[in-house]
Amino acid sequence: MIFIDGVFDRAAHLRSEPDKLWDRLRDGPSRVIPVSRDRNLVTRGDPVGAALIAGPAARTMIDAASEVVFLGTAGEEAFFALEIPNPEPRTLAPFDGGAEFTDLREIGPLIDARDGALLALARGIMYWHRNAQFCGICGNPTESREAGFIRACIGAECGHEHHPRTDPAVIMLVTRPGPRGGYCLLGRQSKWPEKRYSTLAGFVEPGETLEAAVAREVYEEAGVTVTDVRYQASQPWPFPASLMLGFTARATTDVIRVNDSELEDARWFSRAEVARFDPPGFALPRSGSISRWLIANWLAAE
Ligand SMILES: [Zn+2]
Repeated sequence: MIFIDGVFDRAAHLRSEPDKLWDRLRDGPSRVIPVSRDRNLVTRGDPVGAALIAGPAARTMIDAASEVVFLGTAGEEAFFALEIPNPEPRTLAPFDGGAEFTDLREIGPLIDARDGALLALARGIMYWHRNAQFCGICGNPTESREAGFIRACIGAECGHEHHPRTDPAVIMLVTRPGPRGGYCLLGRQSKWPEKRYSTLAGFVEPGETLEAAVAREVYEEAGVTVTDVRYQASQPWPFPASLMLGFTARATTDVIRVNDSELEDARWFSRAEVARFDPPGFALPRSGSISRWLIANWLAAE
């Protein structure tokens, strides 16, 4: 799975030392990770790479930034995310082979694992900053604190501290027994590429357990009831602000009733059918996604 890496240290204890962090940003060793309106900067080439910028090119970027967030450290280097609201040609001039702001979903599977995790964090935190400019309680402007991990309301009567938001979403592979390894339930949304099928998914609601959210979403989307809901793994999914929580579940009914306000189609596929998915026929979800991982695990199981 992509966007996950254990080598990177968020070093949260440094967030309360802005002067030291500022020195580190200016003088290094540090690298900056530019984001522009939810798009990450990548260097062109084969393969493409994450633009983790140091030296004079970094200073040009810092001057063009509207927001700076300290992401953490890896080895000797500190990493900072920058929001670049209006990228100009001269900002990208230092990249010999060319660089462009790109949708991380498209290039995530192509770049190094640690870099992918850094770019995902940079995109997610900058999305929050752009959308938390005003206090949701009193409407006054907010300002960045704690190296970008708090936005505090400047209203004298309020002063509320807002924290970065992550929306939990459940994603689940539902199976039922049958000959030769049984069947799994996959669905598709009309906006997806043609013939791509994936696991069902949905957002957790207030006051709901994860297990209840899995059962509710499967019933709402496909009319199938489930039991034996088991947690498998999670994946950051900053498109724009989700954490995907992956589950398996066992169906207790097999008749599908597609809710066409959510899905275009949902079907039971046998293990042999899924193993033969091959565009331009049926296609699996994106490589590196937790949905693909859940399906691959089921195919690989005895
Ligand atoms: Zn306020």
